[in-house]
Amino acid sequence: MRSVFFILFLLVLFPLYSQSIICVDAGHGGSDPGAVGHGLQEKNINLDVANRFYNLLKNAGYKPYLTRSNDSSVSLSSRTNYANSIGANRFISIHCNAANQSAHGTETFCYTGGSSTSFRMRDKTNPLVVQAMNTYNRGCKTADFYVVKYTNMPAILCELAFIDNASDAAKLGDAYYRQRAAEALLNGLQQTGREEQERTELSNTYIAPLWSPDSSSLLVTTSGYHGLYLVSLDGMQVQEITQESKAGYNANWISAQEIEYKVQTERETQYFSITKDLVKTHTEGRKKEIHVFAQEGSIWMLQGSEKKCLSDSNDVYFNPVLSPDMSMVVYESLTSGLYVSFVAEDKKIALGQGNHPSWTPDSTHIVCDISQDNGQEILGSDLWLISANDPSSRTNLTQSKSFCAQRPCVSPDGKKIAFDAKGKIYVADLGKTLIQHCTEIPMKK
Ligand SMILES: [Zn+2]
Repeated sequence: MRSVFFILFLLVLFPLYSQSIICVDAGHGGSDPGAVGHGLQEKNINLDVANRFYNLLKNAGYKPYLTRSNDSSVSLSSRTNYANSIGANRFISIHCNAANQSAHGTETFCYTGGSSTSFRMRDKTNPLVVQAMNTYNRGCKTADFYVVKYTNMPAILCELAFIDNASDAAKLGDAYYRQRAAEALLNGLQQTGREEQERTELSNTYIAPLWSPDSSSLLVTTSGYHGLYLVSLDGMQVQEITQESKAGYNANWISAQEIEYKVQTERETQYFSITKDLVKTHTEGRKKEIHVFAQEGSIWMLQGSEKKCLSDSNDVYFNPVLSPDMSMVVYESLTSGLYVSFVAEDKKIALGQGNHPSWTPDSTHIVCDISQDNGQEILGSDLWLISANDPSSRTNLTQSKSFCAQRPCVSPDGKKIAFDAKGKIYVADLGKTLIQHCTEIPMKK
């Protein structure tokens, strides 16, 4: 009897002691120094504080991950997609400010439409960093910075101090203060607590369209992958499928009538299927013939009892997508772009820069976006169609940098492409040439 109670005791305790996954994001890097001043480069300060924070997290029993661990260029899309793909429970981005040399102090941001946990983490963290660095408190603010808007977990961005202000820069350049800043970030995280209050304002930033199997409608989500909506191509019918947080992340059609999505909290991952008539069923998750997944920065394939690693160890890889004919896998990396690995042979092709890859239905091509950013916001993004076998054979589908086309998806009949741009959903005819005309889906709710 006693052992039964002991097991029950363990079962109750275990979820409390599962490790929280924390994604630590050192802003800028590589060719982008960020702000500069007084002989300091922001990218180096951010990385140093991120590494200190990483070590503190490890010692405190968290499971930390870094979006960069050296002086390399990592796109905002890669940072965000990586955090989402590892199922991070919290995202903390570290930056330094600059203005006119007289502005000074610490400020911390969360997304304007962020979850209440994001707001709480921001409110707990900012005064602790102010205290630790003995800086002026510029307060807690909201912003639409890419990494806090498009990550699907509670997220903040902390501007530690002003690198172009003499007094602030002296502290940023001092290892003592950088260590104290890292300790403050840890304290802020701990004081935020583990409970995820998922009250999230559903934004009207629609992203990540996914074609229905009959190519007649699109499944879309909002920034942060919160909620799921089904929209007809004329935009006149917008049906809310669910408002659940993260439901839009890796949601998929399992038949012409049914969608599968998962809801992930710090304690558990639950799978649901839901029909167009909103009949919702708790499921075990779909079993696939070939399962591809990322684990600790490598891409793996599981087929029956055979488990095989498809990637090398030169970069951190994530977000694998199996081709419709199940012969290839395309995946993203933090610093070196997209890759295609072959399932049956030991062959890998580098596609070059890109994010958000998806396949054409005939498995011959990849569509993806290539973006430019300033370390805080995406400045421009265009869509590309790239041959999976020959990356030199590539078509620029959009050529309007400021349009910011992202997250493309080709219709199952191969005739159309859907994507999001600045929070709106667009559809265009897909050929092997530049898209001449695209239609905005009006999303009439
Ligand atoms: Zn910055």
